Amino acid sequence: MSPVMTSEQTPQQRLAHVLADIARHAKRAERAPEDIALIAVSKTKPAEEILPILAAGHRLFGENRVQKAQEKWPALKQQYPNLKLCLIGPLQSNKTREAVRLFDRIDSIDRPKIARAVSRVMAEENRNIPVLIQVNTGAEPQKSGILPEHADAFIEECREDLNLNVIGLQCIPPLDDHAAPHFALLSQIARRNGLRELSMGMSADYPAGIAMGATMIRLGTALFGARAKPQS
Ligand SMILES: *Cc1c(COP(=O)(O)O)cnc(C)c1O
Repeated sequence: MSPVMTSEQTPQQRLAHVLADIARHAKRAERAPEDIALIAVSKTKPAEEILPILAAGHRLFGENRVQKAQEKWPALKQQYPNLKLCLIGPLQSNKTREAVRLFDRIDSIDRPKIARAVSRVMAEENRNIPVLIQVNTGAEPQKSGILPEHADAFIEECREDLNLNVIGLQCIPPLDDHAAPHFALLSQIARRNGLRELSMGMSADYPAGIAMGATMIRLGTALFGARAKPQS
């Protein structure tokens, strides 16, 4: 990101900084800043580091692992009942019930098996949370997500057969590639399927996400500083 971020900044200062930067990029793209939601990616961060961001008024968070999220979020949700928690990482089917109970949205529906599991468990739990479908825009074998050429059929299956409340798409462009063409592809798939939400852009590429129409960006490092260990 362009403005300098130092570790001496408080979490509140980093949040203000990031929000100002989102507004700046939104303005440049002739978009309204409030049309771009910030998902604060708190994975690997303990509750002590999340609390200042909550205290500063932020309410939308993302975690990539169900089990790790379960260790900290039930207590935080009691304290801040209106916070929203999104699962942004791949879901294992044996964690589906816990995920449906804990999260307010699942942003990483990345294969038919998990779509079916989430659909079944949501019916059993009588809880219909919205979902995003993850598209593997770079067709990377090591990365999860629906291939772009299968996206239309998969979106239809999720909506029509599985009764999932699909509101948008998520992608993670290949590390060594320009992000913009991947964001453009994701946006095209969303548009032709009548989907409004586009979760695209992380700490390294969110200005491109905003320029290409992201309605959500997911920031970990820019907000919380570097993570101790790299996580997928
Ligand atoms: C970790 C993670 C992010 C945040 O990454 P940063 O580069 O730290 O901003 C965003 N999206 C997903 C799916 C992630 O796993």
